[in-house]
Amino acid sequence: MTSIKTTCCIAGGGPAGMMLGFMLARAGVPVIVLEKHENFLRDFRGDTVHPSTLEIMHELGLLDEFLKIPHSALHQMSLQIGSDELVIGHFEHLPVHCKFIAMMPQWDFLDFLADHARRCPSFGLRMRSEASDLIFDNDRVAGVRATTPDGEVEIRADLVVGCDGRHSTLRQCADFSVDNLGAPMDVMWFRISRNDGDPGEALGCVESGRMLVMLNRNDYWQCAFLIAKGTADEVIKAGLDKFRDSVGDISPFLRDRLREIDGWEKVKLLTVEVDRLRRWYRPGLLCIGDAAHAMSPVGGVGINLAVQDAVAAANILAEPLRCGTVTIDTLKQVQDRREFPTRVAQRVQIVMQNKVIAPALANKGERPKAPLLLKMMQLPLVRRIPGRLLAFGVRPEHVHTMAA
Ligand SMILES: Cc1cc2nc3c(=O)[nH]c(=O)nc-3n(C[C@H](O)[C@H](O)[C@H](O)COP(=O)(O)OP(=O)(O)OC[C@H]3O[C@@H](n4cnc5c(N)ncnc54)[C@H](O)[C@@H]3O)c2cc1C
Repeated sequence: MTSIKTTCCIAGGGPAGMMLGFMLARAGVPVIVLEKHENFLRDFRGDTVHPSTLEIMHELGLLDEFLKIPHSALHQMSLQIGSDELVIGHFEHLPVHCKFIAMMPQWDFLDFLADHARRCPSFGLRMRSEASDLIFDNDRVAGVRATTPDGEVEIRADLVVGCDGRHSTLRQCADFSVDNLGAPMDVMWFRISRNDGDPGEALGCVESGRMLVMLNRNDYWQCAFLIAKGTADEVIKAGLDKFRDSVGDISPFLRDRLREIDGWEKVKLLTVEVDRLRRWYRPGLLCIGDAAHAMSPVGGVGINLAVQDAVAAANILAEPLRCGTVTIDTLKQVQDRREFPTRVAQRVQIVMQNKVIAPALANKGERPKAPLLLKMMQLPLVRRIPGRLLAFGVRPEHVHTMAA
């Protein structure tokens, strides 16, 4: 088996792994990122780059270049519940460079980070390389085993960081305890072409028993049709006609194109989980992003929380990694820094899941009405709070590492 030695090995090239890999390499730390897929071109990644992430891009000196990538700017987040149109986040008052969410396909975001990371001499990105197991040295994690196009590879590292998402292999190998916080829904994910006369911004619509979120990807809509958890088989059994009718009932302007969904292979089931590790680390290993706390799609905050974790981890780890002085206390600092913002974000997601999504999916009769909580958010001063929370979460991170 080939054996490689590095300082930091990151498993998973999603938002958490790519941002951490880039920031550590930029600070001069030797780092290898392992990504199991051959590219970042996967349809089911979310597209929401929030003001917090755009501010990080500014602090890294990359914002102008980043904004040259085609994107649309979402100045407010809206939700239609029955006949009620609600704004659940205004961004125009935020004290930042970009007062909007950049709707950008996530592969463009990850490619951008990868391109910049590759300019750092200490960075290595290995695609089609799947971390399969941890290497232990007594009780300490000393590296990972990976399946690569060149066969099995052993990567020994001073620190392994699990950024391998909500079905993390590394957190299972490390035997971490997980608190499952529950999600009442799963998502059926498909695309429908977009016409010139269609609305320009992302849309979220709730009707009795159904919910649809549509992301504008220029020439097509990326659609997320929410179903009650575990009911995908029932939906499939009821047939494609019924499925298309359900989508058309929520978004009538799509009706003329719904025949594009001409087989279930065009509809991908994404299971939603919300959970959190009790402890994000053990000697030689740290988990961040969804590997430490799987996020629901609610509010489109998961990518940005993963980026915030990465920035905090880079701020805390870069110097000790360069000097070879990472201890269990250094890893604990990362969890201490990020656990509170994560708890708040997950709490808000769970309230939205329980107060808006679960009742909407359970209701098969009357047209749904907006809950009081969301109506109160429309009041002029109150409405700034959800906008701020969506844009930054709590305790936003800033770049404190220097370019080597
Ligand atoms: C249906 C759904 C829709 C969502 N929509 C949005 C949205 O619009 N906006 C938003 O902000 N959040 C959204 N989220 C949440 C968001 O996807 C996550 O919170 C975010 O992607 C977490 O980033 P991450 O880098 O931690 O993990 P991930 O994005 O999951 O990245 C993990 C990476 O690791 C790779 N990987 C996995 N296992 C291995 C392995 N063993 N070895 C090597 N590589 C591996 C994967 O291929 C992947 O590239 C959504 C979630 C769901 C379930």
